Parts: sequence; structure tokens; C-alpha cells
Amino acid sequence: MPFLALARRTASLRREYERAFREVLGSGRFILGPRVEVFEAAFARASGTRHCVAVASGTDALWLSLSAAGVGPGDEVVTVANTCVPTVAAILQCGATPVLADVDPETMTMDPGSAARAISRRTRALLPVHLYGLCADLGALKELARAKGLALIEDCAQAAGAVYGGRPAGGHGLVGAFSFYPTKNLGALGDGGAVTTDDASLAERLRRLRFYGYEKAQVSRETGHNSRLDEIQAALLSVALARLPAWTRSRRNLAALYRDGFGDVLACPDDAPRRRHSYHLFVTRSPRRDALRRALAAKGIETAVHYPIPVHRQRGYDKVCRIGPGGLPVTERLSREIVSLPLYPELRSSEAKRVIAAVRAHA
Ligand SMILES: *Cc1c(COP(=O)(O)O)cnc(C)c1O
Repeated sequence: MPFLALARRTASLRREYERAFREVLGSGRFILGPRVEVFEAAFARASGTRHCVAVASGTDALWLSLSAAGVGPGDEVVTVANTCVPTVAAILQCGATPVLADVDPETMTMDPGSAARAISRRTRALLPVHLYGLCADLGALKELARAKGLALIEDCAQAAGAVYGGRPAGGHGLVGAFSFYPTKNLGALGDGGAVTTDDASLAERLRRLRFYGYEKAQVSRETGHNSRLDEIQAALLSVALARLPAWTRSRRNLAALYRDGFGDVLACPDDAPRRRHSYHLFVTRSPRRDALRRALAAKGIETAVHYPIPVHRQRGYDKVCRIGPGGLPVTERLSREIVSLPLYPELRSSEAKRVIAAVRAHA
């Protein structure tokens, strides 16, 4: 049983994808055209924000958001170490210093107390990660950002479909940054990303930054970049976006099945106060993680670890990050205990039952 079977998703969408592809082919417009605009409007609606600016990747969504928020050399951004490295790479790309806060042991997301201790005079932004599809403690982090005058930027790369306090991820701070990497809850068939925001002038700035600094054709108002979404990905993403609510329901149902099946023997993820999990990943915790993985592998069940090496222990990043006061003891412990089990909308209930039986047999 593979950890993820994306071919099942593309098979179920094949007809709609082919129609979308043919339309783009016939249109003669391939980058930042009408299909990107349609997708941006639909994704803004789905995120409950006024604006959405599509870009080339989730990393670019973070980097351009930070830049548009004024983060640059000499500044610090407080984030976490139990994330995919692009969270930190985006901060470095602005010339700023990532400062790593520890996480809450239950939700595995940014601990607001640790984040508060990591703030210095140079801090410009808080960058919590809605890890595995569960929102960070946005109530406390919003309050902290407000009290300290910081920009709150949500790393929503794993959080399409996640909700905090009745509002989707991506509309709680200054901006939300999404990734449409194919394995994410809302995936393209290539790279893509988007920024959601209620701030009209920030959205305008992002539109300039993603396209050479243009304010209109051939007129650059500031220095910019090339980080555009193409029409094919936008058309495919609109097809996928219509399925996102059903996919999220399916993920939540499978997660409930797992919890009922082995929640008594293995620490399982769940909703948290005010938060609806979207189960980008179903990450359990076991002090005997490696033995559990071997036992499941022996039964043909593939598992994964997200992430085995926290960012501050990655050779590419260990010397360029600063660790906040108090260190990262929870992050360190979790990196040794976490294990991701197969969970995606197309997983069959017979397969889920096999996973449950295998986990119980090992317990
Ligand atoms: C995937 C991911 C990113 C980066 O997205 P890309 O589209 O691959 O650039 C950033 N942060 C987190 C938490 C991610 O999971």
C-alpha cells in the first residue's frame, strides 16, 4: 500500500482535466490570463478573503508576502523548525534572519509563549505553519502580533481546507501563503502557489512583484521578479478546487476511522479548540516509531516521517537560523516520535482497515 497514490486522483479527474487542457490550448493565452483570474477569484472566495494573487510556488508565495510586508536585510522573522525547509528558505531569500520558536506538544504548531520569547527589537513578522492541516493557535498569535506591531503571515501550504474559529486558513493575518505542489490538499500538476489577503494595496504590490515590477504593461514601478502562474495550472486548479470540500470530508472521515481504530494505542491527531483539521497528513506519535514503521512495512504498508530533521539540524540551514531562548526541546522530541500513515481522499476503506489491523497487531 503506497503512502500516496496521486494517479488515483488524476484518473478520477481525467475527463475534466482534458477538457480544461484543450481549452487552454485553443485559447492562445498561456500565462496570467483569464483562467488565472477565474481561479484567483474562486480561491479568494474559498479562503474568505478579498484578494488572491497567484504565483509560481508556495515558496514564492511566502517570499513575496514577506517582501511585500517590508521584511528585508537586518530583520528577523519568528517561525518554527518542524516544517518543510521552504518556510525558512523564504525568510532567507528576503535577506532576513529566521528565529525558531518551539511548538506546542499537542498540536505540534507554534507555541505562542515560545514565540513571544523569541521576539527582539529586530522582529518584523510572525510566520506560523499550519502543520499537517491543523491551524496554529491563531487567536493567541494574532494578539501577540498586534501587541508587538508585527505582520502575521500564515504558512498555509498544508492548510487548504483547514478552518480556525469558523474562518478558513489564510484570512487571519496580513496574508496567507499557499502551495499547490501536486501532493498538497489542493494540488496542481506542476508548481503553483497563491497569496490571500484582505489588503488591497498589498495585493497590488504582490501583482507587481510577481511580474517584473509592472504596474501596467511594460511599465515597472519597482524592481520585481518572475513568479507567475500559468493558464494550464490555473485551469486544472479550478477543477480541483471544486472537489476540495469533498476531499476534505473524505480525509476527515478516514481520520475518524483511524482514531476509532487505534486511538487507544497510538497518539492520533484530532481537531483542537476552535480548529478544524484538514488532514493534509495523518501524523501519529510513538516512542517506538521506527519499530512501528518496520512492522507496517513488513505488511506492505508504506509510512513516512514529516519531518525527520528539523530545519535547525539541516546542513543547509543550521548556521543561518537563530534558535529562540529556551531552545527547541519539544521540536526535538517530536522529530523522533512522529510517523505519517497513508491518508488521502482516494484511500479505500479496505486499505484503512488493513492499516488499523496492522497498527493494532503491533501495539
Ligand atoms: C510545500 C510547503 C512549502 C513550499 O511550497 P512549494 O510549492 O513546494 O514551494 C512551504 N511550507 C510548507 C509548510 C510546505 O509544506
